[in-house]
Amino acid sequence: EKLRDLLLAHIHDVPDYPKPGVMFKDITPLLADAGAFAALTDALAELCRRYGATKVVGLEARGFILGAPAAVRAGVGFVPVRKAGKLPGATLAQTYELEYGTAEIEIHADALGAGDRVLVIDDVLATGGTAEASLQLIRRAGAEVAGVAVLMELSFLTGRDRLASALGDAPLEAL
Ligand code: IMP
Repeated sequence: EKLRDLLLAHIHDVPDYPKPGVMFKDITPLLADAGAFAALTDALAELCRRYGATKVVGLEARGFILGAPAAVRAGVGFVPVRKAGKLPGATLAQTYELEYGTAEIEIHADALGAGDRVLVIDDVLATGGTAEASLQLIRRAGAEVAGVAVLMELSFLTGRDRLASALGDAPLEAL
């Protein structure tokens, strides 16, 4: 379809980054193209409306770049999920498994409330670990998960499967 082709045309494959054997998906050409970035923002904002989101949660760091304008366009607030140690207030923290070792992300404990329905936005769904941990944080913060929206899903890494139980009935959309 047209949006998919436009987005794909502005995502560059960088071999062996950040380490040998990895094909990195670089979205900076997409961000630099006003038309493509606007089309992506509109599509993400439309998902906010479709799923009745009251907040966007963006995952550090590229989820901030995509999530913030989508939240503004949809008329909802934006809440960052950050790597551990970056948020100044009281936080909830969640650790999760990486290929080698563990990682930890945090959200402000008072950022979400009982009436909130949250759309999680990030650039890439790879193994799904980051998104899964973010869904756990959202529920622990007392809010409901409206869905997860990503620019790209690396389906060979089966993140969709890893995310399935955390998602429940909520949708995962890859543009
Ligand atoms: P996961 O937790 O394995 O799903 O990894 C997802 C996180 O890693 C996201 O926050 C992405 O921004 C980042 N990531 C993984 N692979 C890529 C890539 O090829 N390009 C850009 N970001 C990536």
